[in-house]
Amino acid sequence: MKTQVKALVVGGGAVGTSIAYHLAKAGWDDVMLLERDELTSGSTWHAAGLLPLFNMSFATTHIHKYSVDFYKSLEAETGLNAGFAVVGNLRMAQTQERMDEFMLYASTAETCDVPYVWMTPDEIKAKWPLIRTEDLKGALYHNTDGYINPADVTQAMAKGARQRGVEIVRKWQADAFHWNGDAWEVTCTKMVEKGGNLVPSDEQIVITAEHVVTASGNHAQTTAKKLGIKIPAIPVEHQFIVMDQDPALVQFRSEGNVEHPVIRDADAQSYVREERGGWILGVYEKNAPACFEYGVPDSFRADLFPLDLERIEEQYMAMIHRIPSCEESGLKDDFNGPICYTPDGNPLVGPALGLRNMWLAEGFSFGITAAGGTGYYLAQMMVDGEAEIDMASLDPKRYGNWMTTEFAARKNEECYDHVYILHHPDEERPACRPLRKSPAYDRQATRGAQFGFVNGWERPNYYAPAGFNDHDSRSFRRGGWWQYAVEEAKAIREGVGLIDATAFTKHRITGAGATAFLDWFTTNKLPRVGRINLTYALTAHGTTRTEYTIVRNGENDYYLVSAGAWTAYDQDYLFKAIEDKEAEFGRINAQDVTTQWGVFAIAGPKSRDVLAAVIKDADPATALSNKRFPWLSAQKIELGMCPVNAIRVAYTGELGWELHHPIEMQNYLFDLLEKAGEPHGMKLVGARAQNWLRQEKSYRAFGNELGRDATPLEADLPRFVDLSKDFHGKDTMLEKGIRSKCVTLLIDGPDDADPWGREALYHGDTRVGRLTSGGYSVAFGKSIGMGYVKPELAVVGTQLQVKMLDQLWPAVIVEDSPYDPQNAAIRADG
Ligand SMILES: Cc1cc2nc3c(=O)[nH]c(=O)nc-3n(C[C@H](O)[C@H](O)[C@H](O)COP(=O)(O)OP(=O)(O)OC[C@H]3O[C@@H](n4cnc5c(N)ncnc54)[C@H](O)[C@@H]3O)c2cc1C
Repeated sequence: MKTQVKALVVGGGAVGTSIAYHLAKAGWDDVMLLERDELTSGSTWHAAGLLPLFNMSFATTHIHKYSVDFYKSLEAETGLNAGFAVVGNLRMAQTQERMDEFMLYASTAETCDVPYVWMTPDEIKAKWPLIRTEDLKGALYHNTDGYINPADVTQAMAKGARQRGVEIVRKWQADAFHWNGDAWEVTCTKMVEKGGNLVPSDEQIVITAEHVVTASGNHAQTTAKKLGIKIPAIPVEHQFIVMDQDPALVQFRSEGNVEHPVIRDADAQSYVREERGGWILGVYEKNAPACFEYGVPDSFRADLFPLDLERIEEQYMAMIHRIPSCEESGLKDDFNGPICYTPDGNPLVGPALGLRNMWLAEGFSFGITAAGGTGYYLAQMMVDGEAEIDMASLDPKRYGNWMTTEFAARKNEECYDHVYILHHPDEERPACRPLRKSPAYDRQATRGAQFGFVNGWERPNYYAPAGFNDHDSRSFRRGGWWQYAVEEAKAIREGVGLIDATAFTKHRITGAGATAFLDWFTTNKLPRVGRINLTYALTAHGTTRTEYTIVRNGENDYYLVSAGAWTAYDQDYLFKAIEDKEAEFGRINAQDVTTQWGVFAIAGPKSRDVLAAVIKDADPATALSNKRFPWLSAQKIELGMCPVNAIRVAYTGELGWELHHPIEMQNYLFDLLEKAGEPHGMKLVGARAQNWLRQEKSYRAFGNELGRDATPLEADLPRFVDLSKDFHGKDTMLEKGIRSKCVTLLIDGPDDADPWGREALYHGDTRVGRLTSGGYSVAFGKSIGMGYVKPELAVVGTQLQVKMLDQLWPAVIVEDSPYDPQNAAIRADG
């Protein structure tokens, strides 16, 4: 057994094994995989093995697609047959809303080259007569996926890994991790059998590894403790039952018919597949409890929980309704095992917060499906520095240190319960809320705020009249809330609105090395003292890692504002870069001040009038004029008794200011502004209207247009990239050239729907790109979107089509900032 390796993978389930395989395949010839028990003895052995391509997320769809293709190739490479039955997947819809969901999903599938076909109830009946179809609206059918034997595919990957030089060591547990500055020293304990339990022996060794990956499945909480970090991966109980033979099915197959696809009845929260003349029924039922919140007991090995039939009775009856011939089949076997979840259902894949060369691959609920692709893309991140797709939506740091065990457990139960709900793009999930509230939360709530969840924060999405029910207003088309967002957007364009932007991430950077560091770290020229700039930190591959608004408060005193959803993600990159560069640039102090400062954004032609009424200044009439407070500058002002760091900038593209204020004075400021705004008809405005307005100005959003799959030049933001200076990622950014380009489109879409920012873009019959944002433009009275297309098409006036609700709708590329391209509104004097 080696004691010095390039990479140590902890955990021999499907995920860890795939990672070890792909690291070796990517060229690392010194990889070890450590498993505390036997390969597949975690969740992997009891998985049903379904490999659904269906996924609403762009990155996850890519991951699943890679897996499905990869597993098909494994036998040729290893000689092991993993039992991949490519039977396809039939997703049935009982309602038009479910069909709408499938149509939105189909856009994601298309943009990832995942094939699908539509089927009518009659077509289903003709092909698979055992399925009851009269209550169906239709179905979406993938014919390229199916199911596999989870243990066999893991063993095949293990064999492939061994063939590529990976050392796989069983019955050793990684117990303690120490970073010595260059590598991890991992103390490992030999595990031994004792009375059926697996327990640590006295035998220990230390393995030195440059990189460590943890893929510890249900043991994620123990792993988190050992690493001193938080990992919101906690399992939930998941059940499936195997039924005796169904004579009708046996007959059907004996007539030479091919196997049924995996049959998904989402409206009945269940999936069904054939198993030796009978059926397997798997369910996502209500009230499935979280388990192992504080670690997996020694006594729980390749074990299961007792079946809880009562919990799945409803879904069982629904299956009998869907496949009536199974009614007489008895129960042959049952599985109730731990399935790892995360609060949003996506796994946690990427660098761990605050640690070097420590990679997490935890929290997999579709781990058999995701293992192949996760191994592939994580190996790219580790070996090449970046994956070819943007993995940010899976990054473990999307949850910050505010996260607790209780939050993760309850949220994961909710996530499990929500697997088969309608995944409205305007969905908000209720569990564990409200948790992170800005002080004005209660005031906003009484004024009708309907809140969204952003990195734990409650942020108003829109304001509605009393009695309005956000849950019932959700839709794949224009939801019931749409009209309120229209009114709010108009208020900002025509009058004045107030937006709560407290969730913004805020860092203060000071010290003798601050200026040189930030000049190297970001793409744009640093602002002069008292001014602000928009700028980007790049990955080593020259793509966008973070978007910052930098305010320069002093020669070596900077205030950095970035997206609210990404606090820990941004901070990790910033703090690690500072640590690396301090010796070169001099002392740099970095402080997370996110929760110290509240932010209100006031915007609209009348915003100056509202502020003028409350500003304390020797000459209030001129204090906010262009001369004294120009666009893109920052000043300390006083609004009533509240000291405010005001920045003249507005993400909505109107005259406006961001008012950064001490959080403890937020309610005072709220009341002051609300009163001052009354004579001007000031409206409280939520994030949805803001999202539409920023698209009218072509302002890119992080996580949509901006991410690790495009450079700022591809985002078409050369004005924020100063090529006359050297900065991190510059050369690689230039080497990349322009592979695709960001554009803004006005869309003549359906009367009752706007794009959500996931739709495919067509030029004639050819798919040429995808939308990354979408919404409604009050200025143009039609749908709007932003997206990426091939550079030769990124020309103003190019006619494209957007695929929405399974139809192509005309769209035209418009100039950047179609609303007020000269920025006259923002610069308005007064
Ligand atoms: C009933 C059921 C049905 C399912 N059906 C499907 C399905 O159809 N399709 C699908 O895609 N997914 C399915 N899943 C989910 C799937 O089983 C998991 O997502 C997947 O197995 C996770 O793989 P993993 O490698 O992350 O974790 P695991 O398989 O749990 O592997 C983790 C391994 O790490 C080892 N380990 C932990 N800590 C240490 C340590 N410190 N040192 C050394 N080793 C350590 C453990 O012993 C374990 O072997 C199902 C789950 C259940 C419960």
